[in-house]
Amino acid sequence: MIEEKILPQKKINGNHLENFTINEIGDDHLYTSLETPMRSDAFKLTNDEKKERIASLFGEIMDVLGLDRSDDSLQGTPDRVAKMYVEEIFSGLDPANKPKIALFDNKYQYNQMLVEKNITFYSNCEHHFVPIIGKAHVAYISSGKVIGLSKLNRMVQYYAKRPQVQERLTNQIAKALEEILETKDIAVIIDAKHLCVASRGVKDDTSSTVTTYYGGAFNTPEKITELQNYIKE
Ligand SMILES: [Zn+2]
Repeated sequence: MIEEKILPQKKINGNHLENFTINEIGDDHLYTSLETPMRSDAFKLTNDEKKERIASLFGEIMDVLGLDRSDDSLQGTPDRVAKMYVEEIFSGLDPANKPKIALFDNKYQYNQMLVEKNITFYSNCEHHFVPIIGKAHVAYISSGKVIGLSKLNRMVQYYAKRPQVQERLTNQIAKALEEILETKDIAVIIDAKHLCVASRGVKDDTSSTVTTYYGGAFNTPEKITELQNYIKE
């Protein structure tokens, strides 16, 4: 329940794999930091240059796999994948795509929790690049400012559109809302299915993963119970 407990800061760059090798860690998903690990030259290429390069490299993967790219069905695949990566499923890597959010005064003086539940999102696991499909529930208690409800949804979608691990997605949404809403009273609950677990690896199609963030006033047994009552089906 305490946020520090769900934020283990393991360093995997360098030699800090807790004495395990990459192979031994295998399918176990490590969570390294709140920030998505990005290179300092991440935005040197324009989006068009990125698409061109990804299309060429993805074409090579198809070649290595032995696919005949002259087939009508496969011909456009490298370009389609490149466009999808840059403009859609990984568009949240680009801060330029972060939703612009206006704050309003809490005119109605509503000072209880506000819960936006069942926000469906699609993300991708950064360890396998296959989909994570889930629902996010986001809640806050106004510090005097409010935002449009659809903006909660948009923030979830923005951070989902990156190669992700669920723990980081949860905390990135929470921290962004903390900043925007100028309050620590934020909760985020995510329940998601990881296709890297369902469709391959251990092939468990029924399990799902739940992660939570209870900040400020939400981090009490009473508030957690209240919130869970609102989101249960
Ligand atoms: Zn995975």
